[in-house]
Amino acid sequence: MTTKAEKTQHGSHHGDPALRPPPSRRDFLKTTALFAGASAIPQFLGGSVARAAESPCVNLNVATIVIARNPTPSARLASLELRHHIAKICGAVLPILPDSEKVAGPCLFVGESDATRGLGLRAADLKPQEYLIRFVPQGIVLLGRDWQDTPKNRAETGRGTHYQTTLADWRQVIDYSAATGDGNVKDRIELPGIFDEQGTCYATYDFLERFCGVRWYGPTDLNIIIPTKPTLAVQGDDVRRAPAFAYREGIGDGYPTIKAQWNKPTPDQLKLYWRRLRMGGEKWGGNHSIRSFQDRFLRKNPACPELFEKERPDFFAQGTTEGGFKRQLCFTNPDVIAQLVQDARDFFDGKGIKGNQVALGDYFALVPNDNNRWCKCERCQAVLKRDRYNRKGKIFGN
Ligand SMILES: [Zn+2]
Repeated sequence: MTTKAEKTQHGSHHGDPALRPPPSRRDFLKTTALFAGASAIPQFLGGSVARAAESPCVNLNVATIVIARNPTPSARLASLELRHHIAKICGAVLPILPDSEKVAGPCLFVGESDATRGLGLRAADLKPQEYLIRFVPQGIVLLGRDWQDTPKNRAETGRGTHYQTTLADWRQVIDYSAATGDGNVKDRIELPGIFDEQGTCYATYDFLERFCGVRWYGPTDLNIIIPTKPTLAVQGDDVRRAPAFAYREGIGDGYPTIKAQWNKPTPDQLKLYWRRLRMGGEKWGGNHSIRSFQDRFLRKNPACPELFEKERPDFFAQGTTEGGFKRQLCFTNPDVIAQLVQDARDFFDGKGIKGNQVALGDYFALVPNDNNRWCKCERCQAVLKRDRYNRKGKIFGN
């Protein structure tokens, strides 16, 4: 889930990057190998932050966490997580202050704020999922692109591989205090949905791992390694990277062995753990996507009568009267194809998802049910004959 960091630093002792021709990829690799991680890449962001040859050593015991006056859900969670883990390491409970306050001493700038903009650091200059750990004279910036809590963003619909949970359902509200044992958080908090942008959380979790030695091997205290020391002072190279896999989803704790290994986590501890693992990422989903055809086109379901559109028994595999979920569609029926195309069109036009459709972000899934009850009509049988040696493969597959 993670890869080696790509270090990005000023390259002052290699001359002014602006005066040199851009290096070829080969030159880039050579240079990187030669200097073994020493600065070889020109500055990406703004360029207004002067960087010392050696990054300063920042004493976090006396630091202040600085966030925007109206922080994103990601920056809010990141600031709590940072405070919680630093307190466990060195005993110091850092204040979390808005950027409007005057702060003395080193700062941990969490998420974009007036303070980071003053340093020339803006989330919009980063790519999706990309994040930054940057040492600056005033402290350390932990920044990434974050989902903004607006009515328009809240109205976005979608359902992914884990189809019990919609895009909105992923914004779970947890009792942070009970989940972590941290008594400093009184209110329940809404977590960033795992498919909401949360680069600031990625930056913060990476910082806690890379610079503070924290490890989350599971969701409970038994699985979490937090080193302790009287003074937590950090120093090192800047980091600018994104997770190597754009999409990351492996949610679950269903197996008894996992439950035992994870010391029977509470649901809230699990939800927090998925964020610490940086689950989610690019909105994508793929799973049985035509489950709701039965309720839309076969018969009205008393549990969800609003889904019913019209009776189209010809949409379903012919030669059986089983329920729509127990057989395939008549995939050669031009009306079925037209309906699926229309459904995708509707989703991309912002008309939402119907029933259990699997569609998220830029993706609309077309995935049949898990069975081999293929349609017995002449058209389908002709296709199936061509594909008879690989019925689960090339043409008819699920
Ligand atoms: Zn057919």
